Amino acid sequence: MKTSGKNQLDEIEIYQNSESQEVKYDFGALNDLQITEPKRKEMETTLLENHHFNKSILQTIPFGMHIVDKEGNVLFQNEVMIELCGSRNSGKKCWEIYRDDKTNCPECPLLSEISNGETHVKESHDILGRKTFLISSTGAFFQGKKAVFEVFQDITERKQAEIELIAAKERAEESDRLKSDFLANMSHEIRTPLNSIIGFSELMSDPDFDRDQLSEFAGIINVNGNNLLLLISDIMDLSRIEAGQVKLRKSIFSVNQLIKEIRNEYSFKAEEKGIELRLDPLNPSEEIFVENDALRIKQILVNFVGNAIKFTKVGFIEIGIRLNGDLILFQVKDTGIGIAPKYREHIFQRFRQVETAYCREHGGTGLGLAISKSLVELMGGKLWMESEQGKGSVFYFNIPVQCTI
Ligand code: ADP
Repeated sequence: MKTSGKNQLDEIEIYQNSESQEVKYDFGALNDLQITEPKRKEMETTLLENHHFNKSILQTIPFGMHIVDKEGNVLFQNEVMIELCGSRNSGKKCWEIYRDDKTNCPECPLLSEISNGETHVKESHDILGRKTFLISSTGAFFQGKKAVFEVFQDITERKQAEIELIAAKERAEESDRLKSDFLANMSHEIRTPLNSIIGFSELMSDPDFDRDQLSEFAGIINVNGNNLLLLISDIMDLSRIEAGQVKLRKSIFSVNQLIKEIRNEYSFKAEEKGIELRLDPLNPSEEIFVENDALRIKQILVNFVGNAIKFTKVGFIEIGIRLNGDLILFQVKDTGIGIAPKYREHIFQRFRQVETAYCREHGGTGLGLAISKSLVELMGGKLWMESEQGKGSVFYFNIPVQCTI
């Protein structure tokens, strides 16, 4: 390629070899000028010095840098850019070299006719394999033609760190909000049974009440004391699980027996609400033995059954088991209020309940499902749910028949 410039040194022919990117000068033109030999030598030296100086500046830029003409053809790439691309790419269109989708950038500075000396900076995504670059484009002249000088700064890691930082900030804010909700909830949950305990124990010292009334008060104190104990146990349990301090106590037991035991213990509570608590008729008739922590599995099932009773007004609750290869599946189905799609994910997070007002009516701490989920994961299994609002829900979990932990 042969070009010529405009100042006195521009009388010199400048050649660019597009393969090697080497710029060569033909000083023959100087010979035609009316200048003395020492002056010609001096100009030649200055020109070469300038050339080497410019070249070393381009090569010392610690970022990828190239020069493109106004059609987007790459005229020059520095070493960093060649390394970023994996090969030298002079002569090709810049978007074919750098952009993952091989199409021109929508806000390409070439399209906006960037003028000489003017600089545009833009962030460009999906470059050289899903990377993000900050590209500074400056209008310039190169080899006598309008060109754009562009510096590419890889900001992929910085962008990723920014995204993670924003997500961490949002998580921290969310956790802060949940903690406030939790404290408000806890204060209600703790005060309610405590107020009953204090109130009824005061009444018990009143001589006006007869024996029957006193025994009723003692019963109320007992129930409220137990609720308080349950709440404190839940908080302690979750803290221990989250701190990785819970160890599974393995034993071999029959899951058919376990679900029968739960049905027997909780039938009474369901019947009080006019709901039937039964075993799924499709349960396998043969005895299934599992090696795992029976008490923890019971805790999860009791949480499912307890919620099903709490959130069902009419119908039935069914406890099911299925053997699927190496996995045993447990399911608790109810014909209760169901859960709206927008709440389905968040009920497994700690302290989360569907609607505070509704749960207030039913009590609860919003910890049961979070505890259950962590326990199932500790056992190497999975917990999930299906629900139809107004029709009911099914809560499932599966775990390996043989515990390897
Ligand atoms: P808690 O029952 O103590 O509030 P959980 O973590 O066990 O805490 O449950 C979280 C929330 O999920 C409940 O408050 C309720 O809104 C919803 N939920 C759980 N099980 C059911 C169910 N079977 N039917 C309808 N909603 C349910």
